[in-house]
Amino acid sequence: MAKAKSWLEPHPGGLYVKPADLWIDPSRPVERAAVTHGHADHARSGHGAVFATAETLAIMALRYGVDAAASHNQAFEYGDGFERGGVRFSFHPAGHVLGSAQILMEYRGERIVITGDYKRRPDPTCAPFEVVPCDIFITEATFGLPVFRHPPTEDEIAKLIGAVRAEPDRAVLVGAYALGKAQRVIAELRAAGWDAPIYIHGALEKMCQLYAVHGVDLGDLRFVGEADKAEMAGQIVLAPPSALNDRWSRRLPDPVTAMASGWMRVRQRARQRMVELPLVISDHADWDELTTTIAEVNPKESWITHGSEEGLLRWCELHQRKARALHLVGRDLEEEA
Ligand SMILES: [Zn+2]
Ligand SMILES: [Zn+2]
Repeated sequence: MAKAKSWLEPHPGGLYVKPADLWIDPSRPVERAAVTHGHADHARSGHGAVFATAETLAIMALRYGVDAAASHNQAFEYGDGFERGGVRFSFHPAGHVLGSAQILMEYRGERIVITGDYKRRPDPTCAPFEVVPCDIFITEATFGLPVFRHPPTEDEIAKLIGAVRAEPDRAVLVGAYALGKAQRVIAELRAAGWDAPIYIHGALEKMCQLYAVHGVDLGDLRFVGEADKAEMAGQIVLAPPSALNDRWSRRLPDPVTAMASGWMRVRQRARQRMVELPLVISDHADWDELTTTIAEVNPKESWITHGSEEGLLRWCELHQRKARALHLVGRDLEEEA
């Protein structure tokens, strides 16, 4: 085992950086937390001080009322960071959602990177993942099994547009998580040339506004409540997954139910949610992205967490790469894949 064990302690509730007396993505309120990104399984409310990118802090302000302007909370640009207890912390793009960061820690000549959640394919709504050389690489493994290979995003977007055009009397209702996935689906639709208004559920409004304020152009967004039922025929509507089979959807003209998630690769999951049009669009690295990333970062050791640890652990063994599984609790895999 590398010497890191003495200064970085994995606990079920998060990673504790001993010399800095600081936690990374802790699952319970702590005095000092560095947070990789705004999803609920990483960003919690109630911390004394939060260290994060400016975007993540803005997201935490929106979701939990964290006071982003308070002096004990600190916002950083990518590449930037702070020092505490002799440990140098810096934030680097993770390509997962707006503001998502990998955190690099440097202490007594040793470099440890914790990825938080990440992906490698392009995403018009956030900065691309950066390879940060390190001794210990702590990687997520949500889709850490060879069965998970996400198709090209453009193909899934083309499928969505094709479905709307095939049935102009119906609306296509896409379930997408409120932070990240919804804005990415909208931005990908715009990139594919879909410039009609896109209708959104009220629960997506504030996060879409936050993205727009941070320079992500989402085009003409309208509320479902503001339009006549008939007006929404032949249109794309986005809602949080919980609204898919809800009474709310009755205000749409005979909606085709779609869902954008990496889990849509598993037919049974699509069936469970009564999804007619599964769209395999994920904000997490698939199997190839995970293995390619470990090879590119080429650390002395990988610590694997947040998902299918065993599959990736096996891959590391087969490729003579030192690795171990970290079992952190409170990671909700359904939440935002
Ligand atoms: Zn996440
Ligand atoms: Zn996560």
